[in-house]
Amino acid sequence: MAAMIRTRFAPSPNGQLHLGHAYAAVVAHDLARARGGEFLLRIEDIDGTRSRAELIPEILADLDWLGLRWDGPVVHQSSRLPSYQAAAERLKAQDLLYPCRCTRAEVLAASPGTGPDGPIYPGTCRGRAVDPAGAAWRLDMAKAVSLTGPLEWTDALAGVQRAQPEAFGDVVLLRKEAPASYHLAATLDDAADGVTLVTRGADLFASTHVHRLLQALLGLSVPVWHHHGLLVESDGRKLAKRRGSPALADLRRSGADGPALAQALRTALFPAGISLVSGVGIAP
Ligand code: GLU
Repeated sequence: MAAMIRTRFAPSPNGQLHLGHAYAAVVAHDLARARGGEFLLRIEDIDGTRSRAELIPEILADLDWLGLRWDGPVVHQSSRLPSYQAAAERLKAQDLLYPCRCTRAEVLAASPGTGPDGPIYPGTCRGRAVDPAGAAWRLDMAKAVSLTGPLEWTDALAGVQRAQPEAFGDVVLLRKEAPASYHLAATLDDAADGVTLVTRGADLFASTHVHRLLQALLGLSVPVWHHHGLLVESDGRKLAKRRGSPALADLRRSGADGPALAQALRTALFPAGISLVSGVGIAP
């Protein structure tokens, strides 16, 4: 018998959910249900500067309205900070993290180029005595990669990939203003929750190279990924609430039919001006 499949939808409560989120949730939900598996809900609420607690009940109501039922308790990343800290301590003990006090402007000014997450870190604080109090902690990428050797991961749509985390440079794993970066928290949570199929938009395809590296460094289980296409507007840009894509909460309150909307997304019946773009390399 095939192993149980477990997927998750992992929204960040930084803004109201829109159709792009609904599509992501439908994909994660349906892939699990089609194989008798489980669908989890995780709230990625650790970005202190952007996360808004009042949006969390709205997210739950949106999913309920769409007819998407999740299994088990809702996971809040804010309740898991000690596990992120413990993992970071393990990496520090291997001398794989170093404190960095550079500002964004300083990184930008000296950056050797742009990686998938933005300007590549120029390495300014690597090997320097930096006061760790209140600093960010970066992964020494070259050292990490030399420790694990070559790695591979599998995308259900794009096939086997050679992990290329080097393109990110020394990524931040513990942020100054947040207890953990997305890369660290999401990787740890997917392993802790036994997620076997990580579904998310193709805009996060490159992040998986870093996640695969972290799994190897921390001895975590390795899922399969499914990077789905993204809903884009007629100008080719990702849907965004700030550009006027309707919030699910507004549609819900206006009396729109949630399950009918979920069904429309399943059958690629998108509202006028919105289309699905598949494949990798879509800018976040
Ligand atoms: N929290 C991320 C977002 O809302 C999704 C992360 C993931 O699925 O890995 O874009």
